[in-house]
Amino acid sequence: MSDGWRHGDRLHDECGVVGIFDHAEAANIAYLGLHALQHRGQESAGIVAHDGAGLRVHRGVGLVADVFGERELSLLPGRHAIGHVRYSTAGGTGLANAQPIMVRYGGGQVAVAHNGNLTNADTLRARLEANGSIFTTQSDTEVIVHLIARSLAGGFEARLVDALRQIQGAWSLTVLTEDRLIGARDPHGVRPLVLGKLGTSYVFASETAALHLIGAEYVREVEPGELIVVDGNGLRVSRPFAQARRRACVFEHVYFARPDSRIFGESVYGVRKALGAWLARESGVEADVVIPVPDSGVTAAIGYAEASGVPFGMGLVRSHYVGRTFIEPAQSIRHFGVKLKLAPVPEVIRGQRLIVIDDSLVRGTTSSKIIALLRAAGAKEVHLRIAAPPITHPCYYGIDTPERTQLIAASHSVPQMAEALGCDSLAFLSREGLLEAAGGESKGFCDACFTGNYPLPLTDLKAR
Ligand code: SF4
Repeated sequence: MSDGWRHGDRLHDECGVVGIFDHAEAANIAYLGLHALQHRGQESAGIVAHDGAGLRVHRGVGLVADVFGERELSLLPGRHAIGHVRYSTAGGTGLANAQPIMVRYGGGQVAVAHNGNLTNADTLRARLEANGSIFTTQSDTEVIVHLIARSLAGGFEARLVDALRQIQGAWSLTVLTEDRLIGARDPHGVRPLVLGKLGTSYVFASETAALHLIGAEYVREVEPGELIVVDGNGLRVSRPFAQARRRACVFEHVYFARPDSRIFGESVYGVRKALGAWLARESGVEADVVIPVPDSGVTAAIGYAEASGVPFGMGLVRSHYVGRTFIEPAQSIRHFGVKLKLAPVPEVIRGQRLIVIDDSLVRGTTSSKIIALLRAAGAKEVHLRIAAPPITHPCYYGIDTPERTQLIAASHSVPQMAEALGCDSLAFLSREGLLEAAGGESKGFCDACFTGNYPLPLTDLKAR
């Protein structure tokens, strides 16, 4: 999540994963890759590396730079590695649930890093526990390793496929054993996963931003339902799962992914600009300046300004130094909230009719404070434009969302929301505009948080 400052009024991506096979500095490469994926999860980070004798792991709570220093990386020698950054959705926070999960079972050692969320994890877990499995975490990912360990199929890959055929939901995985690295993506392709090459070494990552940072070349997306095995013989691709309609998470384009990444075959920057341009065409309004809510609204605001002809201005400056651990020290200054994180630029705002672009609206609590801040700084009019449709339903596929009752758009009409937020006008991007900007509906997207049409079974998950 890039806007950690709005913890609580933002959707949060669950995780990012990387993997590299046959590189002299595998753990260092994984570490750099995780840095580029830090926006996908800030609660914990971990790397498992293979040093020829076995797998070794280091995990910790905090940002990648806090969890790993020279010492930690020096304890992870070897030519193969996988890594993970986590923002918890399934399972609690803390070290016990940090990934990659690494176990030793009858077939050897295996480590798994997972981005997504399993929707039948409770059912599988209950069945496994009834048969004697002992779980050490609350993470749904641990279900996968138990299924691998209990599989009667012959050979690791057959065991893994047997396990993955039993799980439902969203999963993009990197898996490391003593002699191979595997990248796999669920048949609907909900979460992203890409394949790259660094010299002669193959790399997997959630986003191409990780490939750019380590200097790897982008090869292609791991296609939905693909299992790609990299070992001493090179690379093998199989499609061992029943085919399903592609259902890529459209919210990756709206907010989660980094603008310099390519997601689902499209440039995130290009899509975000197109979201802003569609928004301008659908809900233009007379104004003097277009300002983004930084950082996540910037790209859409550039697109809006270009399409509307209204000049772009940085009317809000974000402080990057207010950490998530910031504690407001006394009741008397507890109301500073948004002011600590966003500062208005009076020269851009005073006396002006503003179009304020944000990427999405969740609870609305932060937006109302921003609008009050802009009015206090002298804005003449504030027109809020959201570069996504109203979020009316929670996500069950790997994104942390508030309960439905907390989503302002689930219970308020647009005029009611405008009144509650205190803006002069409010408009959202249409669903059609969103899907067109993301490459067209025929590409196959999940848009359930905007529509309630959940494309994957919610076996263990009751509507919240
Ligand atoms: S419900 Fe929303 S956030 Fe969740 S996978 Fe679907 S589009 Fe993405």
